[in-house]
Amino acid sequence: MRILVLGGAGFLGSHVCDALLGDGHTVVAVDNLLTGRVSNLKHLESDPRFSLEVHDICKPFDYGKVDYVFDFASPASPVDYMTHAVETLKVGSAGVFNGLDVAWKYNARFLISSTSECYGDPLEHPQRECYWGNVNPIGPRSVYDEAKRFGEAATMAYYRYKKVDTHIVRIFNTYGPRLQLNDGRVISNFMKQALRGDDLTVYGDGSQTRSFCYVSDEIDGILRLAHSEEHLPTNIGNPSEFTILECARLVLNVTGSKSRIAFAALPEDDPKQRCPDISKARQLLGWEPKINLETGLSLSMDYFRECLASEQMVSNACHPH
Ligand code: UDP
Repeated sequence: MRILVLGGAGFLGSHVCDALLGDGHTVVAVDNLLTGRVSNLKHLESDPRFSLEVHDICKPFDYGKVDYVFDFASPASPVDYMTHAVETLKVGSAGVFNGLDVAWKYNARFLISSTSECYGDPLEHPQRECYWGNVNPIGPRSVYDEAKRFGEAATMAYYRYKKVDTHIVRIFNTYGPRLQLNDGRVISNFMKQALRGDDLTVYGDGSQTRSFCYVSDEIDGILRLAHSEEHLPTNIGNPSEFTILECARLVLNVTGSKSRIAFAALPEDDPKQRCPDISKARQLLGWEPKINLETGLSLSMDYFRECLASEQMVSNACHPH
């Protein structure tokens, strides 16, 4: 197949490109490099089946006939989407429409990356796909939450009324190599702080929970869904739930760091709990995650070390002693 990966230079988008190329497909990544990075795709430079188009998908595009469109284009960490609030709303609306129009034009399949944020600060626990969520439509996270909910609505409309073969994955917190060192997410912050010997900043009292999925498990689940006949949203995430304080302690264990834990203010509308019910993915796709948090953190450590080393090199070059 010839496949478009929108947001192909991002954390998940670049891993999707790798997996699709590994399965023998030809991949065109499209990215405006707002939060995506060319370095995530550097290893694909000489692959004749791969190309990167630097383009903002909010403007229409057409790179010729394709068989599948994967839409992973959006700022995705709270720090990134609050910094790029309007861009996040636009890429989740105009960008999604442009991707859907390409799929419609070429009779291609379409998969949109949605999010556990669709459930907001959930009042049902764990979250099943049929739960409609508890989202603040005007709060600081709304630019992301509502963009993703709109993207789901647009995708369902193209499925129902334009007969596009669409798929919706609801992604829960995912981590691993290529997560940006400075995206402000909990795993990147804790790993950076632990490896530097800085205090780990736990927001609030650390009792809020998250469920972390290692990137290879996440990609495996997404590709299984892409090959399925399922059109309604499907949770792909790891159902092992940790408090943020437990997560901080685990990072200290895995890195062997002597850093201490420091408490800081809890951001507004920070969800208190988050855990996927993955019964549907288990049954439909025969999928469940294999890598637990401790193993995944160990697997990610070299990557974060390298990020810190190159940041140090840049800083030394800018401020020579
Ligand atoms: N968090 C934290 N310290 C940090 C970064 C995040 O305690 O340095 C908390 C944050 O308040 C949230 C959780 O960790 O409760 C996950 O935050 P993240 O930004 O990774 O993503 P979210 O799941 O909130 O979208």
